[in-house]
Amino acid sequence: MAFEISSQDSKTKARAGFLKTCHGKVATPCFMPVETKGAAKFVNQGELQEMGVDCFITNALLLSFKPGLETIAKAKGLHSFLSWKKSIFTDSGGFQVIDENFLVSISDKAAVFRDPFSGRKERITPERAIGIQNSLGSDVAMCLDDQPHYGRSKASIAQAVSRTLTWAERCKTAHSNPKQLLFGICQGGLHLDLRKKAIQRLLEIGFDGIAIGGFGIGESMDSMLRVSAKLTPLIPGSKPVYLMGIGSPLELVRGVAAGIDVFDSCFPTRVGRHGLVFTREGILRLEKQAFKHDFSPLDKECSCFVCKSYSRAYLHHLLRLREPSGLRYLSHHNLHFLQELLQDCRAAIRENSFRKFARDFSKSFQKH
Ligand SMILES: [Zn+2]
Repeated sequence: MAFEISSQDSKTKARAGFLKTCHGKVATPCFMPVETKGAAKFVNQGELQEMGVDCFITNALLLSFKPGLETIAKAKGLHSFLSWKKSIFTDSGGFQVIDENFLVSISDKAAVFRDPFSGRKERITPERAIGIQNSLGSDVAMCLDDQPHYGRSKASIAQAVSRTLTWAERCKTAHSNPKQLLFGICQGGLHLDLRKKAIQRLLEIGFDGIAIGGFGIGESMDSMLRVSAKLTPLIPGSKPVYLMGIGSPLELVRGVAAGIDVFDSCFPTRVGRHGLVFTREGILRLEKQAFKHDFSPLDKECSCFVCKSYSRAYLHHLLRLREPSGLRYLSHHNLHFLQELLQDCRAAIRENSFRKFARDFSKSFQKH
């Protein structure tokens, strides 16, 4: 079995376990950094390895545009090309459905995207999205989905759910790489009835894991977590649950409490480049004058090289001057912080003390 739960917290839905892929075990709950074009911005693969990252997610569609499947095949596959020996998830391109600069049109048959590099129109069917991921050889492939914009009418969201489920069936039929796991994606916005039906259908089709997609685009954290917590009990324990596009510290801890096993987001590196720093006492805006003479580390308990070597004052100075090294340090720290946070979550689950851990973290994080 690809997924195994080794510890279950008795007071919350949090669980710890392992997702087994052809490139090793991924300890869950886990957070995956995002390498949209094959690189985490300002952070290299060696750093990810050192901070204990077991897997990241990259965008199969964009990689198929540039450098192209031929180059990656000549490099002997995605792992070798990206110089990463552990697990890799690939997103099919579904997220681009909500990007108006990218999506040209969408119908039940296919989505037409504009290749952002060449401007050429590309027709992406579920079969093509899976074919690309099969040939890239990622460890986990994602179905092509139709992600509705936040704030759409229920009828419009229902249509996206129905299209996503038809596409999920076509993805499952087209999938032909036995070394690769395939996850189905549930859409439905904040409508629990639509989401429940979607999950039921995905379980009937039969996937290795279930992803909850379509969040992190405008809804409140509370409503997203309320819906997610009602969905996780519907999914058998043999299937990991992946909450897509979520990556702020508090959301992760509360997501783990709701029974989520896998998260990903470009949030930690994106906000890091804008001077927002994760700490156990909340998110700091490092550009503020208050840090000019603050010679303490970004976070006292963080074991990353940035916190061990540099002060808030020095990093404030680099940030004010937009020095590339400063942006790199903050991106590194934020990713490292989340890896440590998930390690702490896993330890608390194993000790059956996750509820206390989550309460203490939440209290400390919201202190300021
Ligand atoms: Zn740090």
